[in-house]
Amino acid sequence: MNFRLTRRDSLKALLGGTAALAIGQAAGLTATKIGGDFTLISGAGSNVLLYTSADGSLLVDGGSPGESAELLKLIAEQTGNKPVKVLFNTHWHYESTGSNEALGKAGAKIVAHENTKLWLGAENDMHWTGKVFSPVPKIARPSETFYTTKKMEFGGQQIEAGYMLQAHTDSDIYVHFPQAKLLMVGDVVSPGRYPDLDWSTGGWITGMVEGQRALLAVAKDDTRIVAGTGGVMTKADLQAHFDKLLAIRDGMVKLFRQGKGADEMQADGLTKEYDAQWGDPKQFLHNAYHGMWGHVREVGGIV
Ligand SMILES: [Zn+2]
Repeated sequence: MNFRLTRRDSLKALLGGTAALAIGQAAGLTATKIGGDFTLISGAGSNVLLYTSADGSLLVDGGSPGESAELLKLIAEQTGNKPVKVLFNTHWHYESTGSNEALGKAGAKIVAHENTKLWLGAENDMHWTGKVFSPVPKIARPSETFYTTKKMEFGGQQIEAGYMLQAHTDSDIYVHFPQAKLLMVGDVVSPGRYPDLDWSTGGWITGMVEGQRALLAVAKDDTRIVAGTGGVMTKADLQAHFDKLLAIRDGMVKLFRQGKGADEMQADGLTKEYDAQWGDPKQFLHNAYHGMWGHVREVGGIV
């Protein structure tokens, strides 16, 4: 789940601060070369990372179902019609898994955490949005799942994927390309805005803090980091994002233990110094608060 950026915003975010070059555009989608044979495509509902090799191409995330046809058309243009052989899903949300059906039918291997497969195969009530998702067809579910870590090789790139426990959801993985120094992290990081904590499928704030801590351990100083939204981040950007989230979490635990609710936390000024940069904290605070109740013993209870 993430908020759609306008095309102007995503272009600005993509081009600001990086030496990237926009090389293709179609129906609100923007393809930007980010070094080597990697392309970042924005505007499809979530960021999509494309790797092209002589053996075919690999994607991390596939945008929303409604954007899939345009996205796959753009990818075909970018790769000279090379088949997409492997698709990673960073988590189960439809903004990331919207090309699963088309690519599954075309014979791509779909790699994800086991929980992504479980959520996509079940009716799923996302209480905080009022949306109910139906199971996707079997061909659209991941064909290769893992629980903790996975290593593979594709088109000359070593790939290391790892599970981030309960963070944005309970199905989040990162996908790391150490040779290219690229790390795709999905919605566990939300550059420039408050994160979405999807408590209806296991997301919660301390899990997200720990997920980001795991990412900081994987990233090297010169690793480029791509989240589900926004432009390319440096490790220093991720560290700054983490520091803010950690400060909010620590403040929140204190207020939670005093029996304060989400609106009282906002009124107390918990997020005041971050609102100018990250926007309206209301939904974030409500989701974070709700998620804490699922972990009340870890938080330390109400005193
Ligand atoms: Zn998401």
